Amino acid sequence: MKIVLASRNKHKISELQALLSKYIEDIEILSLDDVGIYGEIDENGSNFTENAIIKARAAAASGYIGIGDDSGLSVRALGGEPGIYSARYAGEHGNDAANNALLLKKLADKDDRYAEFVCTVAVVRPDREEPLVVEGRTGGVIIEEARGEGGFGYDPYFYYEPLGKTFAELTPEEKNSVSHRGRAIEALAKKIKDFI
Ligand code: IMP
Repeated sequence: MKIVLASRNKHKISELQALLSKYIEDIEILSLDDVGIYGEIDENGSNFTENAIIKARAAAASGYIGIGDDSGLSVRALGGEPGIYSARYAGEHGNDAANNALLLKKLADKDDRYAEFVCTVAVVRPDREEPLVVEGRTGGVIIEEARGEGGFGYDPYFYYEPLGKTFAELTPEEKNSVSHRGRAIEALAKKIKDFI
């Protein structure tokens, strides 16, 4: 069975391939490039779920089952910011240093430092309108000083209390076992077999 992930990131493709192979026999994860979808997907949804569905539908236009995901940080004292704008919070896409600096500035006068990483994954069949949607969340607090060298994005400032470390201080295996993405994939693995 072939499934198209709405991504061109080889790391993401092989990660999903490894995870879903444990649950579904003869599964092959393809990228958008593999099925000849080259344009940008217009992620104009107003929340993680809408964006994940938009991406999954774009992938399912290939004629195969499509999977899309969207993730980010949701800070309670900031009404859910940066949310769907996590990658470009400070303006420039993927500028982690600027994004983190803006986050700390906005939290400077706040006592409530609680935040959640959220990951939503949607699956769309080419022959069915209704998607399967799963979500993973992990709660933590935003600290003032960066800690750790691993991970990416907001990881050095996201302190995960149960392990007493920031996400940037965890090994990739540790992070996968507690992260929003790991939890979403776990939820997906449980439900996808009945959907496809
Ligand atoms: P994406 O939807 O996985 O591309 O994530 C969008 C943005 O959310 C990233 O560019 C990061 O800023 C942030 N983000 C998502 N997941 C993580 C994570 O595990 N650690 C740190 N930042 C993350």
